[in-house]
Amino acid sequence: MDVTTPRLANRRPLTHIRKMKKSDVTCPKCHAGYRRIELASRPGTKGEFRCLLCDQVLEVFDGSTEVAIRLTVQPEKTFE
Ligand SMILES: [Zn+2]
Repeated sequence: MDVTTPRLANRRPLTHIRKMKKSDVTCPKCHAGYRRIELASRPGTKGEFRCLLCDQVLEVFDGSTEVAIRLTVQPEKTFE
C-alpha cells in the first residue's frame, strides 16, 4: 500500500528542510563569541541584542524571524 510515495531515485530526499540558520557573531568591542540561530519559520520579538559583557548592540531584530543568540566564547581579559 505505497501508492502515494513517488520514487525519486535520482534525487536526494530533501525532507530535511533547513529552517534554521546558524551563524557566529563576534562582538566588535570585546570580541566575545556568540552563536546565532535564526528560526525563519517563526515570528520573533522586536528589539535588540546587546553584548552580555560590554553592552555593545550586536543586532537589532525587526521581529520577522525568531533569533536566539548565545554566548559561546568569553573574551580574554587582557586589557585590565
Ligand atoms: Zn562585547
